[in-house]
Amino acid sequence: MALTADQQAEIDQQRSTPRQTLRAVSDGMEAHLYTAIPVLDHGFVRVIDYMGDDAAICQAARVSYGRGTKSVQNDEGLIRYLMRHWHSTPFEMCEVKLHVKLPVFVARQWIRHRTANVNEYSARYSILDREFYIPAPEHIAAQSQVNNQGRGAPLEGAEAARVLEILKADSARCYDNYEAMISQDGQEGLARELARMNLPANIYTQWYWKVDLHNLLHFLRLRADTHAQYEIRVYAEAICAVVADWVPFAYAAFEDYRLGGANLSAKALDCVRRMLKGEEVTQESSGMSKGEWREFEGVIG
Ligand SMILES: Cc1cc2nc3c(=O)[nH]c(=O)nc-3n(C[C@H](O)[C@H](O)[C@H](O)COP(=O)(O)OP(=O)(O)OC[C@H]3O[C@@H](n4cnc5c(N)ncnc54)[C@H](O)[C@@H]3O)c2cc1C
Repeated sequence: MALTADQQAEIDQQRSTPRQTLRAVSDGMEAHLYTAIPVLDHGFVRVIDYMGDDAAICQAARVSYGRGTKSVQNDEGLIRYLMRHWHSTPFEMCEVKLHVKLPVFVARQWIRHRTANVNEYSARYSILDREFYIPAPEHIAAQSQVNNQGRGAPLEGAEAARVLEILKADSARCYDNYEAMISQDGQEGLARELARMNLPANIYTQWYWKVDLHNLLHFLRLRADTHAQYEIRVYAEAICAVVADWVPFAYAAFEDYRLGGANLSAKALDCVRRMLKGEEVTQESSGMSKGEWREFEGVIG
């Protein structure tokens, strides 16, 4: 990750001037504030601001419960109860604002999560930096034979080297042409909003992304999952580590019920019950399709 000297100075300055506040503060999150967490070769995630903590989730939940909550003894237990029963609005009481630097093709996947607020770097107004995502050799992989939407084993030898060379050369050539087109040296210079169309999808962009904890956990559930593309998954994993420090009870419940848990269909549940009674259940007798059965076997090991 390449933070410019100016960016690093801004982070140092922000971290050097703490202010007193009456607001709820999460010590774990304070440690992350402004600091850039490197992701991929030039990307990062950094926390710009946040609101709330584990206690804020409980505070909101207890208001909405009104009377009759005496049986829920502590914050951790209450948060686990809320997560288990999909009582989601208390989690919306926490918010986080992130500054993310990411390749454009990752941004296209990320922006599909509509329940967030986004402001992106303007390539109409500004000139994009010469920064491209070039995968590490172990991530230059072949098309998966089992999953049309995924990759298989890493490419090897001459083919891997050729792919890497193409990625680097095309990125460099496109950026050279971008610079040549917008240059006002001896020519009028093409508008930046037009010149950018010639840039490849591995160029980096940046945005501020603000989201509440409920929708952030939904994002993380989908994008920290093994089915998500590696290049967005590493961002999700970096954010998971931040959330674990920010709201430890909520994150632990999320890890347990969502990330590590599984949903079973009625048919799958019926199979589990039959198996527990000692019946030998097969795909044919399960009532599930081959795909469902494969996924079911994956869940129960
Ligand atoms: C592994 C994987 C593969 C994918 N493959 C593809 C693909 O091939 N092609 C493709 O186009 N997309 C693909 N997606 C994107 C996916 O379909 C979703 O668009 C994306 O994950 C955002 O999820 P979301 O809509 O639940 O999130 P958000 O937009 O954050 O919405 C959160 C929730 O709010 C509700 N909501 C938000 N907006 C609306 C609305 N307008 N109407 C009704 N309810 C709403 C829904 O309940 C939704 O689940 C893929 C995603 C993953 C994780």
